[in-house]
Amino acid sequence: MHGLMMDSQLSISSILTHAENVHQHAEIVSRKPEGGIFRYTYADAGKRSRQAANMLATLGVKQQDRVATLAWNTHRHFELYFGVSGSGAVLHTVNPRLFPEQIIYILNHAEDEVLFLDIQFIPLIEAVKDKLPLLKHIVLMVDKDSMPESSLDLLCYEELIEAASSDYEWPSFDENLAATLCYTSGTTGNPKGVLYSHRSTVIHALASMTNDALGVSNQSIILPVVPMFHVNAWGVPYAATAAGATLVLPGAGMDGGSLYELIDGENVELLLGVPTVWLGLLQYCEKESLTMTSVQDVVVGGAAAPMSMIKAFQEKHDAFVIHAWGMTELSPLGTVNARNSYMASLSLEERYELQAKQGRPVYGIEIRIVDDNDNELAKDGKAFGRLQVSGPWVASSYYKHEDQSDWTGKWFDTGDVATIDEQGYMNIVDRAKDVIKSGGEWISSIDVENIAVGHENVAECAVIGIAHPKWDERPLLLVIVKEGASMTKEDMTGYLEDKIVKWWMPDDVLFVEELPHTATGKLLKRELRDTYQDYYSK
Ligand code: AMP
Repeated sequence: MHGLMMDSQLSISSILTHAENVHQHAEIVSRKPEGGIFRYTYADAGKRSRQAANMLATLGVKQQDRVATLAWNTHRHFELYFGVSGSGAVLHTVNPRLFPEQIIYILNHAEDEVLFLDIQFIPLIEAVKDKLPLLKHIVLMVDKDSMPESSLDLLCYEELIEAASSDYEWPSFDENLAATLCYTSGTTGNPKGVLYSHRSTVIHALASMTNDALGVSNQSIILPVVPMFHVNAWGVPYAATAAGATLVLPGAGMDGGSLYELIDGENVELLLGVPTVWLGLLQYCEKESLTMTSVQDVVVGGAAAPMSMIKAFQEKHDAFVIHAWGMTELSPLGTVNARNSYMASLSLEERYELQAKQGRPVYGIEIRIVDDNDNELAKDGKAFGRLQVSGPWVASSYYKHEDQSDWTGKWFDTGDVATIDEQGYMNIVDRAKDVIKSGGEWISSIDVENIAVGHENVAECAVIGIAHPKWDERPLLLVIVKEGASMTKEDMTGYLEDKIVKWWMPDDVLFVEELPHTATGKLLKRELRDTYQDYYSK
């Protein structure tokens, strides 16, 4: 017997309609790529998103066509989040930090015919336009007065919006239809597309709003520094809209100074982003002797949050770090380390230890760890194995991609190695390919990095496994020293000595000017391994 309930289909447009009806006065603040701060309400955003939907129709976009964006976190990008998906087309957010060949590949693979562009990315597209035969329209997201000279045939976003009617009824359709497309920037091979549905997006937004996850409400003032071109800014634009939260969008200003200005000026309470961005912000505050007084919570994900960062936010800015783990394939939320009664029972030092873990699965996500034969391992906080996940917002395959080798039955293999403890807390040990195998034992490169970065003179560091004639692999530590500071190998190893077991000690420490990162801000360890591959065999 079926339940007797309405079969309302979940849709992204319904989130915006709700905000227009219930939170019409709540604000969206946006730093414009062409300069200046712009602010309006969800009611205004709703109207302009409907104009955007009409604009798409005039550009010839039909249901399920892919529409690309190369854009920062701005109010115009926000309008496309709803205008494109809401009208039944698929929003394809392209990461501008990818290599030009990867951008060419994904725009062609997704068969995008319309591209919305921020002014900073004109040179990027000018350079590759000849290799994008499918592209029919390029719309520059600026106002009329800011239209620049370009070899591209550019349309003006504000002109098109102005000409479009706001009379538009969001169509209803099957909730399983595709809504957005995001390519993972793997370190090998071509990027792979993850195709989210309306259903997965809405359920993910609902799950992420709870206090056990990101805690997004009508009272929140949120600054998602995580880009809208990276896993839909962790779904925050949807969650914030459903809640009617004040949404502060940083545009192209991701440096410490620009972020501080926005946080302070808008009284931001909740920050979300990757550790490298927070390192920049914390170092800026330290240098300028500034405190972030309004910030209550900082969600750190995308890479491990070092204990020193968790402490710095708490002790210098009275801000609580919510450590979270996820992936493009998970929309991205998997586990979150939010406040709870168990945490409240701990001493401050014990709490910091716990916060360094990546947290517990949010309701909807199941996790397990397995050995190489897919046997489930104990949840004792010690056994570590490949982390597998399952749930309604986890990808079931890649877009137009045959290879199903990452899936086994209901489980998706994340490529991460983790432990899970008795309380259900998951701790990422490493990426499976980054873990260092020394004398038959494993060394967590992440653990050593997170401790080393706690040294007051270290700005950033990376630990990689290098082939070793005796031990198979041995760790090598690469360090960027903070501006104005200096240190020696002995300073570093002396600091690590009583904090890690003896055989985890890097055999050498190299001081470098910079470290390579992926398009999503993660350390590019493959490149480092290639550079230093013979270091211990010379
Ligand atoms: P992406 O799909 O680009 O978002 O990258 C996902 C990967 O980032 C995961 O598989 C992890 O390896 C890594 N990652 C994400 N969050 C964390 C975290 N909190 N700690 C450690 N690694 C993380």
